[in-house]
Amino acid sequence: MVNLSTLNDLLKTTKERNVLLIVVSKTRSIHEIQELYDHGIRDFGENRVQEMVEKYEALPKDIRWHMIGHLQKNKIKYLAEFVYLIHAVDSLELAKKINKEAKKHDRIIPCLLQLHIAQEVSKFGFERHDLFALLETGALRELENIKIEGLMAMSSFVEDENQIDSEFSSLKNDFDSIKEIYFKTDPKFKELSMGMSGDFEIALKNGSTMVRIGSKIFGPRTY
Ligand SMILES: *Cc1c(COP(=O)(O)O)cnc(C)c1O
Repeated sequence: MVNLSTLNDLLKTTKERNVLLIVVSKTRSIHEIQELYDHGIRDFGENRVQEMVEKYEALPKDIRWHMIGHLQKNKIKYLAEFVYLIHAVDSLELAKKINKEAKKHDRIIPCLLQLHIAQEVSKFGFERHDLFALLETGALRELENIKIEGLMAMSSFVEDENQIDSEFSSLKNDFDSIKEIYFKTDPKFKELSMGMSGDFEIALKNGSTMVRIGSKIFGPRTY
């Protein structure tokens, strides 16, 4: 069940701030996505390649599909033709593979670099010093078929709003530094993908430009 009044509130809040609302549609049916499409939504986020491909094939072609989850290198080929933005690039190897698949389709695929900012141990996302070290090498710049447009991160899975606030605030600081040092003359490096159902207000306060929201619109997910 799609909650349209919540959706309208979210659209209003994000529009006022010039922020993109990405509706996270993982586990949701074609029918539910179509309902949101009919309501004017065009940006949808998925975290599994196969699910995204199936939905892409079944739904209108002007939908902008955001890959928000960890991406396995051997699966890039399935979405390289149509993916709108890849949010979670977290290694040079992955960036190189996306670049290679993009080239086959004569495309430049927009990407965000994922930073690991949460307290929880996770395999996903660059550690901050590793990301700065990689940017310093200039290796990403050589990849002509991807375009790095900003950063993405997830906060700790905690109740403590001060903790989340400080994580998003430090992410914003890193974003500003990276922009200043490595993308100063690049107007396309401008996106900060942060904020989900539970923490998007804190993310907006800290300068998010894209929020990824699922359960607040659809209700809890059942796998
Ligand atoms: C599932 C997911 C979301 C949306 O989570 P909700 O709490 O349902 O809003 C956002 N970002 C990522 C990376 C996700 O995997």
